[in-house]
Amino acid sequence: MPATPKPPPYRGRFAPSPTGPLHFGSLVAAFGSWLMARHAGGEWLIRIEDLDPPREVAGAMAHQLATLATVGLQSDGPVLRQSERSPMYHAALDRLLASGDAFECHCSRSALADTRGVHRQCVATAARSDPSIRLRVRDDTVIGFADAVRGDYQQDVATQVGDFILRRADGFWAYQLAVVVDDAAQGVTDVVRGADLLDSTPRQILLQRMLGLPTPRYAHLPLLADGHGRKLGKSQAAAPVDAQNPVPVLRMAWAALG
Ligand code: GLU
Repeated sequence: MPATPKPPPYRGRFAPSPTGPLHFGSLVAAFGSWLMARHAGGEWLIRIEDLDPPREVAGAMAHQLATLATVGLQSDGPVLRQSERSPMYHAALDRLLASGDAFECHCSRSALADTRGVHRQCVATAARSDPSIRLRVRDDTVIGFADAVRGDYQQDVATQVGDFILRRADGFWAYQLAVVVDDAAQGVTDVVRGADLLDSTPRQILLQRMLGLPTPRYAHLPLLADGHGRKLGKSQAAAPVDAQNPVPVLRMAWAALG
């Protein structure tokens, strides 16, 4: 009898951007993905998404990692830093450029104001020295997926998002490209994260398909609620986690996850 291939083990991840101290909303996402990974008997990784130096805060990465460790959330493997992975993003971008799926764009933000920032064709009249690189999204690119929390979700990437940026005009890598390259490189099977990223997922699935990478399962956690189903205010969600008191914090995160 031929051996059935073993399904890949469950591997989840938490991918904070080091833009400040870990806030409660992020902790809930971290705790949620950790719980799902442990429940499945799988692994859980931390990846630092330090792709945007202008928005980064010195010491934030160390502070976030220390806070996570205090509440018992530690990466099962080395902590990956996106700032060290430029060659991988370059390789992916080069493939998309070579296939004609990516292109240099000289449009300014103001030139795209008429279409609310949605790029369908270049409207720039002059070349700029720092073009961005975008993914060409063909007409009728409708991407759907089954979210473990939200159910079926569908987006027409062409009309709702347009040709999106892979490398910014300032030379930094776009989140969408880096997250796809790294989720695949780390063998992530399950992405559990906040619902604010739900509408990024079709873009990521599109990129996975174009690059021939596997699509993980997705679960987008609802916006924070207190233990009684009331939505948590922005300031509560944005409050830094008090690492001196891990137990009450975890209890609150548990309640928020419902
Ligand atoms: N780095 C992103 C953030 O902090 C999260 C990316 C992800 O989980 O895909 O919002």
